[in-house]
Amino acid sequence: MRRFQNRHIIAMLVLLFFAPGCRVNPATGQKQLVVISEKQEIAIGRQAAGGLEKHFDGKVSNTQLQEYVRSVGGKVAKAADRKMPYEFTLLASDVPNAFALPGGKVYITAGLMKKMENERQLAAVLGHEIGHVCALHNVHAMQRQWGAKILLKLAQYALEGEYASAAQTATEYSTKFLNLRYSRKDEYQADELGIRYMSRAGYNPCGMIELMEILLKQGKGKEKGKESSFFELFQSHPLTRKRIEQVREHISLNYHQHLPPRPDPHADRYLKMRLLLTATLKGEKL
Ligand SMILES: [Zn+2]
Repeated sequence: MRRFQNRHIIAMLVLLFFAPGCRVNPATGQKQLVVISEKQEIAIGRQAAGGLEKHFDGKVSNTQLQEYVRSVGGKVAKAADRKMPYEFTLLASDVPNAFALPGGKVYITAGLMKKMENERQLAAVLGHEIGHVCALHNVHAMQRQWGAKILLKLAQYALEGEYASAAQTATEYSTKFLNLRYSRKDEYQADELGIRYMSRAGYNPCGMIELMEILLKQGKGKEKGKESSFFELFQSHPLTRKRIEQVREHISLNYHQHLPPRPDPHADRYLKMRLLLTATLKGEKL
């Protein structure tokens, strides 16, 4: 009887491991149940993109700025644990924010870019978002909050491109994404993955601490209730002193060769782009 039970358990485990949708997460090494395929994940992100871009005032029109964000993001993405069709876009909204869609579309707003001071801080934001994509946090958030059944249905629609034609449905579709929330654990993990990828790409990971210090200072002056629109990192898991200390400790334990940090050698390049951004938004030419 016992032998039968053992065999039964082993058979169940084998089944679980090889069942469709059970994948090893490339960033975390953990086995996870994922109800949609990678192809469906990419299709969902593409379907949601248009509506979300519109929500954040569309893309910044200057091609030099888009190219800059793309080149920094591209360097960090090359160092990521999951190969996806990553795309990086600068949106015109003045509300500081950054987010990633399932499948690898990553966005940062002009409002956030204007607050940062150097290139490694930009690499930190984009690295954090790439971390969410690598660890499939947004796929898990969809599964958890919408349920597997609805997610599979949306994935099917996305693959068939049904939402593309209906503008109203497209808006509803992208609004669903604005309400997705990551868990506290997801945020810590995205911080650590972001640090891993940015440092592989040659950026000093202390850029993550600098970024968080800037955002924490900004957030403190905000009125209560207004913070929900402030930066993706803040929405699901407030940027607390404790979180920054955790990042600081992670860097001192694993990246001590980067300490103490020297000034970012690419700060000038970043500040030039920031000036260009301000001028572009005002409709001026530099
Ligand atoms: Zn995040």
